[in-house]
Amino acid sequence: MPKTIIVSNRLPVKITEQDGEYELSPSEGGLATGLGSIYKQNNNLWVGWPGLEITDENDRKKVTRELQELSLVPVFLSQEEINQYYEGFSNSVLWPVFHYYASTYANYEQSNWDYYQRVNRIFMEVVLKVAEPGDTIWVHDYQLLLLPALIRKAQPEISIGFFLHIPFPSYEMFRLIPWRAQLLEGVLGSDLIGFHTYDDVRHFINAATRILPVNSSANIITADDRTIVAEAFPIGIDDKKYSSLPDEPEVQKNIKLIQANFGNTKLILSIDRLDYSKGIIQRLNAFEYLLTHYPEIKGKMTFYMIVVPSRDTVPQYAHLRQEIDKLVGNINSLHRTVEWTPIQYFYRSFPIEMLSALYSSAAVCLVSPMRDGMNLVSKEYVASRVYNDGVLILSEMAGASKELIDALIVNPNNTEEVAKTIVKAAYMPLQEQRTRMTQMRQIVSKFNISHWVKIFMDKLEEVKQLQRSMQ
Ligand code: UDP
Repeated sequence: MPKTIIVSNRLPVKITEQDGEYELSPSEGGLATGLGSIYKQNNNLWVGWPGLEITDENDRKKVTRELQELSLVPVFLSQEEINQYYEGFSNSVLWPVFHYYASTYANYEQSNWDYYQRVNRIFMEVVLKVAEPGDTIWVHDYQLLLLPALIRKAQPEISIGFFLHIPFPSYEMFRLIPWRAQLLEGVLGSDLIGFHTYDDVRHFINAATRILPVNSSANIITADDRTIVAEAFPIGIDDKKYSSLPDEPEVQKNIKLIQANFGNTKLILSIDRLDYSKGIIQRLNAFEYLLTHYPEIKGKMTFYMIVVPSRDTVPQYAHLRQEIDKLVGNINSLHRTVEWTPIQYFYRSFPIEMLSALYSSAAVCLVSPMRDGMNLVSKEYVASRVYNDGVLILSEMAGASKELIDALIVNPNNTEEVAKTIVKAAYMPLQEQRTRMTQMRQIVSKFNISHWVKIFMDKLEEVKQLQRSMQ
Protein backbone atom coordinates (compact mmCIF):
# COMPACT_ATOMS: atom_id res chain seq x y z
CA MET A 1 0.00 0.00 0.00
CA PRO A 2 1.48 3.39 -0.97
CA LYS A 3 2.43 5.57 1.96
CA THR A 4 3.03 9.24 2.76
CA ILE A 5 6.40 10.34 4.13
CA ILE A 6 6.69 13.70 5.90
CA VAL A 7 10.22 15.14 5.95
CA SER A 8 11.29 18.07 8.12
CA ASN A 9 14.46 19.25 9.81
CA ARG A 10 13.22 18.20 13.26
CA LEU A 11 11.18 15.17 14.25
CA PRO A 12 8.07 15.97 16.33
CA VAL A 13 9.65 14.45 19.41
CA LYS A 14 11.80 15.51 22.31
CA ILE A 15 14.68 13.20 23.17
CA THR A 16 16.62 13.65 26.37
CA GLU A 17 19.67 11.73 27.44
CA GLN A 18 20.58 10.87 31.00
CA ASP A 19 23.41 8.52 31.92
CA GLY A 20 23.33 6.83 28.52
CA GLU A 21 19.54 6.30 28.59
CA TYR A 22 17.40 8.07 25.99
CA GLU A 23 13.91 9.22 26.80
CA LEU A 24 11.37 10.07 24.13
CA SER A 25 8.35 12.35 24.48
CA PRO A 26 6.21 13.43 21.53
CA SER A 27 6.20 17.23 21.08
CA GLU A 28 2.77 18.37 20.06
CA GLY A 29 3.49 21.64 18.25
CA GLY A 30 0.97 22.96 15.72
CA LEU A 31 2.60 21.24 12.75
CA ALA A 32 2.93 17.95 14.61
CA THR A 33 -0.77 18.09 15.54
CA GLY A 34 -1.81 18.83 11.97
CA LEU A 35 0.42 16.25 10.40
CA GLY A 36 -0.43 13.73 13.11
CA SER A 37 -3.51 12.94 11.07
CA ILE A 38 -1.10 11.71 8.39
CA TYR A 39 2.02 10.18 9.82
CA LYS A 40 0.28 8.17 12.53
CA GLN A 41 -1.96 6.43 10.00
CA ASN A 42 -1.34 3.17 8.11
CA ASN A 43 2.32 2.73 7.28
CA ASN A 44 3.06 6.45 6.90
CA LEU A 45 6.29 7.91 8.28
CA TRP A 46 7.96 11.13 9.42
CA VAL A 47 11.69 11.54 8.67
CA GLY A 48 13.85 14.13 10.51
CA TRP A 49 16.68 14.96 12.87
CA PRO A 50 15.92 13.76 16.42
CA GLY A 51 17.27 16.98 18.00
CA LEU A 52 20.53 15.84 19.55
CA GLU A 53 23.84 14.32 18.53
CA ILE A 54 24.01 10.55 18.96
CA THR A 55 27.35 9.07 17.93
CA ASP A 56 27.42 5.56 19.39
CA GLU A 57 26.21 2.95 16.88
CA ASN A 58 24.35 0.92 19.53
CA ASP A 59 22.62 4.04 20.85
CA ARG A 60 21.58 4.94 17.32
CA LYS A 61 20.05 1.50 16.85
CA LYS A 62 18.24 1.72 20.19
CA VAL A 63 16.81 5.17 19.41
CA THR A 64 15.86 4.10 15.88
CA ARG A 65 13.87 1.17 17.28
CA GLU A 66 12.06 3.36 19.81
CA LEU A 67 11.25 6.00 17.19
CA GLN A 68 9.94 3.29 14.88
CA GLU A 69 7.14 2.61 17.38
CA LEU A 70 5.98 6.21 16.79
CA SER A 71 6.32 5.99 12.95
CA LEU A 72 9.38 8.25 13.11
CA VAL A 73 12.64 7.73 11.19
CA PRO A 74 15.77 9.52 12.45
CA VAL A 75 18.38 11.34 10.38
CA PHE A 76 21.50 11.32 12.58
CA LEU A 77 23.71 14.37 12.25
CA SER A 78 27.00 15.29 13.87
CA GLN A 79 27.37 18.50 15.86
CA GLU A 80 29.52 19.93 13.07
CA GLU A 81 26.82 19.18 10.49
CA ILE A 82 24.19 20.83 12.67
CA ASN A 83 26.40 23.86 13.26
CA GLN A 84 27.07 24.49 9.61
CA TYR A 85 23.92 23.30 7.86
CA TYR A 86 21.41 24.49 10.45
CA GLU A 87 22.96 27.37 12.41
CA GLY A 88 25.22 28.29 9.52
CA PHE A 89 23.47 28.12 6.19
CA SER A 90 19.80 27.81 7.20
CA ASN A 91 19.80 30.41 9.96
CA SER A 92 22.61 32.71 8.82
CA VAL A 93 21.82 32.88 5.09
CA LEU A 94 18.30 31.66 4.31
CA TRP A 95 16.52 33.00 7.40
CA PRO A 96 17.89 36.58 7.20
CA VAL A 97 17.61 36.88 3.41
CA PHE A 98 14.09 35.44 3.29
CA HIS A 99 13.05 37.89 6.07
CA TYR A 100 14.64 40.87 4.26
CA TYR A 101 17.59 41.19 6.66
CA ALA A 102 20.27 40.31 4.12
CA SER A 103 22.44 43.37 4.58
CA THR A 104 22.53 43.21 8.38
CA TYR A 105 22.69 39.52 9.13
CA ALA A 106 23.52 37.31 6.11
CA ASN A 107 26.87 35.54 6.13
CA TYR A 108 27.58 33.75 2.85
CA GLU A 109 30.26 31.33 3.96
CA GLN A 110 31.25 28.65 1.46
CA SER A 111 31.72 25.90 4.05
CA ASN A 112 28.17 26.45 5.35
CA TRP A 113 26.87 25.96 1.83
CA ASP A 114 28.97 22.79 1.45
CA TYR A 115 27.44 21.41 4.63
CA TYR A 116 23.94 22.41 3.54
CA GLN A 117 24.35 20.34 0.39
CA ARG A 118 25.87 17.46 2.31
CA VAL A 119 23.08 17.34 4.92
CA ASN A 120 20.37 17.56 2.25
CA ARG A 121 22.04 14.51 0.66
CA ILE A 122 22.05 12.70 4.02
CA PHE A 123 18.30 13.37 4.27
CA MET A 124 17.91 12.03 0.72
CA GLU A 125 19.67 8.79 1.63
CA VAL A 126 17.39 8.22 4.61
CA VAL A 127 14.26 9.03 2.60
CA LEU A 128 15.29 6.73 -0.24
CA LYS A 129 15.78 3.86 2.21
CA VAL A 130 12.10 4.01 3.14
CA ALA A 131 10.47 5.43 -0.03
CA GLU A 132 8.95 3.16 -2.65
CA PRO A 133 7.47 3.96 -6.07
CA GLY A 134 3.90 5.20 -5.62
CA ASP A 135 4.61 6.88 -2.27
CA THR A 136 3.96 10.57 -1.59
CA ILE A 137 6.65 12.69 0.01
CA TRP A 138 5.95 16.01 1.73
CA VAL A 139 9.10 18.03 2.43
CA HIS A 140 8.94 20.97 4.85
CA ASP A 141 10.76 24.26 5.06
CA TYR A 142 13.89 26.19 4.28
CA GLN A 143 16.39 23.72 5.74
CA LEU A 144 15.59 21.23 2.96
CA LEU A 145 15.33 23.28 -0.23
CA LEU A 146 17.62 20.92 -2.15
CA LEU A 147 15.88 17.72 -1.11
CA PRO A 148 13.02 17.56 -3.66
CA ALA A 149 15.38 17.49 -6.68
CA LEU A 150 17.70 14.96 -4.99
CA ILE A 151 14.78 12.59 -4.42
CA ARG A 152 13.37 13.25 -7.91
CA LYS A 153 16.65 12.15 -9.52
CA ALA A 154 16.47 8.75 -7.86
CA GLN A 155 12.68 8.31 -8.11
CA PRO A 156 11.50 10.25 -11.19
CA GLU A 157 7.80 9.32 -10.85
CA ILE A 158 7.32 9.78 -7.13
CA SER A 159 4.91 12.47 -5.81
CA ILE A 160 6.74 15.28 -4.02
CA GLY A 161 5.12 18.22 -2.26
CA PHE A 162 7.13 21.03 -0.68
CA PHE A 163 5.93 23.67 1.77
CA LEU A 164 7.87 26.78 2.77
CA HIS A 165 6.92 27.99 6.26
CA ILE A 166 8.78 31.31 6.00
CA PRO A 167 8.28 34.12 3.47
CA PHE A 168 9.77 33.84 -0.01
CA PRO A 169 11.48 37.19 -0.68
CA SER A 170 11.33 39.33 -3.78
CA TYR A 171 13.79 38.60 -6.60
CA GLU A 172 16.00 41.56 -5.64
CA MET A 173 16.61 40.01 -2.22
CA PHE A 174 16.79 36.39 -3.31
CA ARG A 175 19.35 37.04 -6.05
CA LEU A 176 21.89 38.13 -3.40
CA ILE A 177 22.44 34.50 -2.45
CA PRO A 178 25.43 33.12 -4.40
CA TRP A 179 23.77 29.69 -4.73
CA ARG A 180 20.35 30.99 -5.81
CA ALA A 181 20.09 28.83 -8.96
CA GLN A 182 20.87 25.59 -7.11
CA LEU A 183 18.33 26.43 -4.41
CA LEU A 184 15.59 27.01 -6.98
CA GLU A 185 16.50 23.85 -8.90
CA GLY A 186 16.28 21.95 -5.63
CA VAL A 187 12.73 23.12 -4.87
CA LEU A 188 11.64 22.60 -8.47
CA GLY A 189 12.17 18.87 -8.01
CA SER A 190 8.70 19.01 -6.37
CA ASP A 191 5.34 18.60 -8.09
CA LEU A 192 3.54 21.07 -5.81
CA ILE A 193 5.20 23.97 -4.00
CA GLY A 194 3.19 25.61 -1.22
CA PHE A 195 3.58 29.04 0.38
CA HIS A 196 1.60 30.95 3.01
CA THR A 197 0.57 33.84 0.77
CA TYR A 198 0.00 34.73 -2.85
CA ASP A 199 2.85 37.30 -2.65
CA ASP A 200 5.28 34.49 -1.77
CA VAL A 201 4.04 32.50 -4.78
CA ARG A 202 4.59 35.49 -7.08
CA HIS A 203 8.06 36.12 -5.69
CA PHE A 204 9.02 32.50 -6.17
CA ILE A 205 7.76 32.26 -9.75
CA ASN A 206 9.42 35.56 -10.60
CA ALA A 207 12.76 34.43 -9.15
CA ALA A 208 12.53 31.03 -10.89
CA THR A 209 11.75 32.44 -14.33
CA ARG A 210 14.43 35.14 -14.10
CA ILE A 211 17.21 32.96 -12.75
CA LEU A 212 16.54 29.62 -14.47
CA PRO A 213 15.60 28.63 -18.02
CA VAL A 214 12.02 27.77 -17.01
CA ASN A 215 8.65 29.06 -18.20
CA SER A 216 5.55 29.95 -16.28
CA SER A 217 1.93 30.53 -17.05
CA ALA A 218 -0.14 31.80 -14.11
CA ASN A 219 0.93 29.56 -11.22
CA ILE A 220 2.21 26.69 -13.37
CA ILE A 221 5.94 26.34 -13.99
CA THR A 222 7.37 24.16 -16.75
CA ALA A 223 10.91 22.95 -16.10
CA ASP A 224 12.56 20.19 -18.17
CA ASP A 225 9.11 19.31 -19.55
CA ARG A 226 7.79 18.74 -16.05
CA THR A 227 4.72 20.62 -14.84
CA ILE A 228 5.05 22.08 -11.35
CA VAL A 229 2.39 24.05 -9.52
CA ALA A 230 3.11 26.84 -6.99
CA GLU A 231 0.19 27.87 -4.81
CA ALA A 232 -0.76 29.62 -1.56
CA PHE A 233 -1.92 27.44 1.32
CA PRO A 234 -2.11 29.66 4.43
CA ILE A 235 -1.45 27.39 7.42
CA GLY A 236 -4.12 27.13 10.12
CA ILE A 237 -4.15 26.14 13.78
CA ASP A 238 -6.00 23.58 15.90
CA ASP A 239 -8.71 26.14 16.69
CA LYS A 240 -10.80 23.76 18.83
CA LYS A 241 -7.89 23.20 21.17
CA TYR A 242 -7.59 26.95 21.81
CA SER A 243 -11.33 27.55 22.13
CA SER A 244 -11.78 24.75 24.64
CA LEU A 245 -8.68 25.42 26.78
CA PRO A 246 -10.31 28.32 28.72
CA ASP A 247 -12.72 25.77 30.29
CA GLU A 248 -9.90 23.82 31.88
CA PRO A 249 -9.42 24.25 35.66
CA GLU A 250 -5.70 25.04 35.32
CA VAL A 251 -6.44 27.80 32.81
CA GLN A 252 -9.26 29.15 35.00
CA LYS A 253 -6.86 29.28 37.94
CA ASN A 254 -4.36 31.27 35.86
CA ILE A 255 -7.05 33.64 34.61
CA LYS A 256 -8.01 34.42 38.23
CA LEU A 257 -4.37 35.01 39.10
CA ILE A 258 -3.94 37.44 36.20
CA GLN A 259 -7.20 39.16 37.13
CA ALA A 260 -6.05 39.58 40.72
CA ASN A 261 -2.76 41.18 39.64
CA PHE A 262 -3.73 43.19 36.59
CA GLY A 263 -7.53 43.38 36.79
CA ASN A 264 -7.50 47.16 37.11
CA THR A 265 -5.49 47.72 33.90
CA LYS A 266 -6.00 46.71 30.28
CA LEU A 267 -3.52 44.01 29.23
CA ILE A 268 -1.71 44.51 25.93
CA LEU A 269 -0.17 41.12 25.12
CA SER A 270 2.70 40.23 22.85
CA ILE A 271 4.31 36.79 22.46
CA ASP A 272 7.27 36.05 20.19
CA ARG A 273 10.38 33.98 19.89
CA LEU A 274 13.55 36.04 20.28
CA ASP A 275 14.17 37.11 16.69
CA TYR A 276 15.03 40.33 14.87
CA SER A 277 12.22 39.63 12.38
CA LYS A 278 9.63 39.96 15.16
CA GLY A 279 9.99 43.74 15.54
CA ILE A 280 10.35 43.63 19.33
CA ILE A 281 12.54 46.74 19.56
CA GLN A 282 10.23 48.74 17.27
CA ARG A 283 7.24 47.62 19.37
CA LEU A 284 8.92 48.81 22.57
CA ASN A 285 9.67 52.13 20.87
CA ALA A 286 6.00 52.46 19.98
CA PHE A 287 5.01 51.73 23.57
CA GLU A 288 7.44 54.33 24.85
CA TYR A 289 6.01 56.84 22.33
CA LEU A 290 2.58 56.03 23.71
CA LEU A 291 3.65 56.64 27.31
CA THR A 292 5.28 59.93 26.36
CA HIS A 293 2.50 61.29 24.13
CA TYR A 294 -0.55 59.85 25.88
CA PRO A 295 0.42 60.12 29.58
CA GLU A 296 -3.25 59.71 30.52
CA ILE A 297 -2.95 55.95 29.81
CA LYS A 298 -0.39 55.57 32.61
CA GLY A 299 -1.69 53.17 35.22
CA LYS A 300 -4.47 52.07 32.86
CA MET A 301 -2.56 49.74 30.51
CA THR A 302 0.02 47.04 31.14
CA PHE A 303 2.21 45.77 28.34
CA TYR A 304 2.65 42.04 28.97
CA MET A 305 5.54 40.96 26.80
CA ILE A 306 6.73 37.37 26.48
CA VAL A 307 9.90 36.64 24.56
CA VAL A 308 10.61 32.94 24.17
CA PRO A 309 14.34 32.12 24.29
CA SER A 310 15.71 31.14 20.89
CA ARG A 311 19.15 30.82 19.27
CA ASP A 312 20.62 33.02 22.03
CA THR A 313 24.05 31.44 21.77
CA VAL A 314 24.31 33.15 18.36
CA PRO A 315 25.93 36.60 18.87
CA GLN A 316 23.25 38.59 16.95
CA TYR A 317 20.48 37.06 19.05
CA ALA A 318 22.40 37.57 22.31
CA HIS A 319 22.85 41.20 21.29
CA LEU A 320 19.14 41.60 20.52
CA ARG A 321 18.32 40.18 23.93
CA GLN A 322 20.60 42.72 25.61
CA GLU A 323 19.01 45.53 23.64
CA ILE A 324 15.53 44.42 24.74
CA ASP A 325 16.64 44.13 28.40
CA LYS A 326 18.07 47.63 28.25
CA LEU A 327 15.07 49.21 26.57
CA VAL A 328 12.56 47.57 28.93
CA GLY A 329 14.66 48.70 31.89
CA ASN A 330 14.80 52.27 30.59
CA ILE A 331 11.09 52.50 29.89
CA ASN A 332 10.07 50.97 33.20
CA SER A 333 12.44 53.07 35.28
CA LEU A 334 11.31 56.26 33.55
CA HIS A 335 7.55 55.73 33.53
CA ARG A 336 6.68 53.47 36.45
CA THR A 337 4.75 54.64 39.48
CA VAL A 338 4.64 53.26 42.99
CA GLU A 339 1.69 51.02 42.20
CA TRP A 340 2.14 50.40 38.45
CA THR A 341 4.84 49.01 36.11
CA PRO A 342 4.30 49.69 32.39
CA ILE A 343 5.99 46.57 30.99
CA GLN A 344 5.81 43.07 32.43
CA TYR A 345 8.62 41.40 30.51
CA PHE A 346 9.37 37.66 30.55
CA TYR A 347 12.30 36.01 28.81
CA ARG A 348 11.08 32.43 29.08
CA SER A 349 8.53 30.04 27.66
CA PHE A 350 5.18 29.25 29.29
CA PRO A 351 3.00 26.14 29.43
CA ILE A 352 -0.03 26.28 27.16
CA GLU A 353 -2.38 26.65 30.17
CA MET A 354 -0.70 29.99 30.95
CA LEU A 355 -0.65 31.11 27.30
CA SER A 356 -4.36 30.34 27.03
CA ALA A 357 -5.10 32.33 30.22
CA LEU A 358 -3.15 35.29 28.82
CA TYR A 359 -4.96 35.08 25.46
CA SER A 360 -8.26 35.04 27.40
CA SER A 361 -7.29 37.96 29.63
CA ALA A 362 -5.69 40.35 27.15
CA ALA A 363 -7.85 43.23 25.92
CA VAL A 364 -5.42 43.65 23.03
CA CYS A 365 -2.98 41.31 21.32
CA LEU A 366 -0.20 43.25 19.63
CA VAL A 367 1.49 41.28 16.83
CA SER A 368 3.89 43.54 14.97
CA PRO A 369 6.64 41.58 13.20
CA MET A 370 8.82 43.27 10.60
CA ARG A 371 8.33 40.12 8.53
CA ASP A 372 6.63 36.81 9.34
CA GLY A 373 5.67 33.86 7.12
CA MET A 374 2.29 33.50 8.85
CA ASN A 375 2.34 34.18 12.63
CA LEU A 376 0.38 31.67 14.66
CA VAL A 377 0.14 33.73 17.85
CA SER A 378 -2.36 36.02 16.11
CA LYS A 379 -4.57 33.05 15.18
CA GLU A 380 -4.27 31.50 18.64
CA TYR A 381 -5.44 34.77 20.23
CA VAL A 382 -8.47 34.88 17.92
CA ALA A 383 -9.34 31.22 18.55
CA SER A 384 -9.11 31.81 22.32
CA ARG A 385 -11.62 34.71 22.34
CA VAL A 386 -14.68 32.60 23.00
CA TYR A 387 -16.78 35.70 23.92
CA ASN A 388 -15.95 37.38 20.60
CA ASP A 389 -14.36 40.38 22.30
CA GLY A 390 -10.75 41.64 22.35
CA VAL A 391 -8.80 43.40 19.62
CA LEU A 392 -5.98 42.08 17.45
CA ILE A 393 -3.39 44.55 16.14
CA LEU A 394 -1.53 42.91 13.28
CA SER A 395 1.46 43.91 11.17
CA GLU A 396 0.83 44.07 7.45
CA MET A 397 4.17 42.22 7.07
CA ALA A 398 2.76 39.04 8.67
CA GLY A 399 1.22 36.45 6.34
CA ALA A 400 -1.78 36.31 8.70
CA SER A 401 -2.73 39.88 7.73
CA LYS A 402 -3.91 38.58 4.35
CA GLU A 403 -6.56 36.46 6.08
CA LEU A 404 -7.34 38.34 9.31
CA ILE A 405 -8.42 41.51 7.56
CA ASP A 406 -10.66 42.50 10.48
CA ALA A 407 -7.63 43.04 12.70
CA LEU A 408 -6.30 46.58 13.08
CA ILE A 409 -3.57 46.40 10.46
CA VAL A 410 -0.41 48.46 11.05
CA ASN A 411 2.97 49.13 9.48
CA PRO A 412 5.36 48.05 12.27
CA ASN A 413 7.89 50.73 11.28
CA ASN A 414 5.36 53.47 11.94
CA THR A 415 5.88 54.21 15.63
CA GLU A 416 3.17 56.84 15.80
CA GLU A 417 0.61 54.70 13.98
CA VAL A 418 1.29 51.70 16.24
CA ALA A 419 0.98 53.88 19.37
CA LYS A 420 -2.29 55.41 18.20
CA THR A 421 -3.64 52.00 17.21
CA ILE A 422 -2.96 50.68 20.72
CA VAL A 423 -5.14 53.48 22.11
CA LYS A 424 -7.83 52.82 19.52
CA ALA A 425 -7.78 49.10 20.30
CA ALA A 426 -7.89 49.55 24.07
CA TYR A 427 -10.92 51.83 23.85
CA MET A 428 -12.77 50.17 20.96
CA PRO A 429 -16.52 49.89 21.61
CA LEU A 430 -17.61 46.35 22.47
CA GLN A 431 -19.94 46.15 19.47
CA GLU A 432 -17.09 46.84 17.04
CA GLN A 433 -14.83 44.37 18.85
CA ARG A 434 -17.52 41.70 18.45
CA THR A 435 -18.11 42.38 14.77
CA ARG A 436 -14.40 42.14 13.97
CA MET A 437 -13.65 39.20 16.23
CA THR A 438 -16.63 37.16 14.98
CA GLN A 439 -15.40 37.48 11.39
CA MET A 440 -11.86 36.52 12.32
CA ARG A 441 -13.02 33.56 14.41
CA GLN A 442 -14.95 32.19 11.47
CA ILE A 443 -11.85 32.32 9.29
CA VAL A 444 -9.58 30.73 11.91
CA SER A 445 -12.13 27.99 12.49
CA LYS A 446 -12.87 27.22 8.84
CA PHE A 447 -9.26 27.28 7.62
CA ASN A 448 -7.87 25.22 10.48
CA ILE A 449 -4.84 22.95 10.44
CA SER A 450 -6.70 19.83 9.24
CA HIS A 451 -8.18 21.82 6.38
CA TRP A 452 -4.65 22.97 5.45
CA VAL A 453 -3.31 19.42 5.37
CA LYS A 454 -6.28 18.20 3.35
CA ILE A 455 -6.21 20.89 0.66
CA PHE A 456 -2.44 20.53 0.20
CA MET A 457 -2.63 16.75 -0.19
CA ASP A 458 -5.67 16.95 -2.48
CA LYS A 459 -3.90 19.49 -4.67
CA LEU A 460 -0.78 17.34 -4.88
CA GLU A 461 -2.91 14.45 -6.13
CA GLU A 462 -4.57 16.76 -8.65
CA VAL A 463 -1.17 17.94 -9.96
CA LYS A 464 -0.07 14.33 -10.43
CA GLN A 465 -3.23 13.63 -12.44
CA LEU A 466 -2.66 16.76 -14.52
CA GLN A 467 0.89 15.58 -15.28
CA ARG A 468 -0.39 12.13 -16.30
CA SER A 469 -3.01 13.65 -18.58
CA MET A 470 -0.31 15.69 -20.32
CA GLN A 471 1.96 12.71 -21.07
N1 UDP B 1 4.66 29.36 22.08
C1 UDP B 1 5.13 28.34 22.88
N2 UDP B 1 5.58 28.64 24.14
C2 UDP B 1 5.59 29.90 24.62
C3 UDP B 1 5.13 30.93 23.78
C4 UDP B 1 4.68 30.62 22.51
O1 UDP B 1 5.11 27.17 22.46
O2 UDP B 1 6.00 30.12 25.76
C5 UDP B 1 4.15 28.99 20.73
C6 UDP B 1 2.92 29.76 20.31
O3 UDP B 1 1.78 29.23 20.95
C7 UDP B 1 2.94 29.59 18.80
C8 UDP B 1 4.43 29.44 18.49
O4 UDP B 1 5.11 29.31 19.75
O5 UDP B 1 2.27 28.41 18.42
C9 UDP B 1 4.99 30.64 17.73
O6 UDP B 1 4.56 30.56 16.39
P1 UDP B 1 4.60 31.84 15.44
O7 UDP B 1 4.09 31.40 14.10
O8 UDP B 1 3.85 32.97 16.06
O9 UDP B 1 6.13 32.26 15.35
P2 UDP B 1 7.45 31.42 15.01
O10 UDP B 1 8.14 31.23 16.33
O11 UDP B 1 7.04 30.13 14.37
O12 UDP B 1 8.25 32.30 14.10
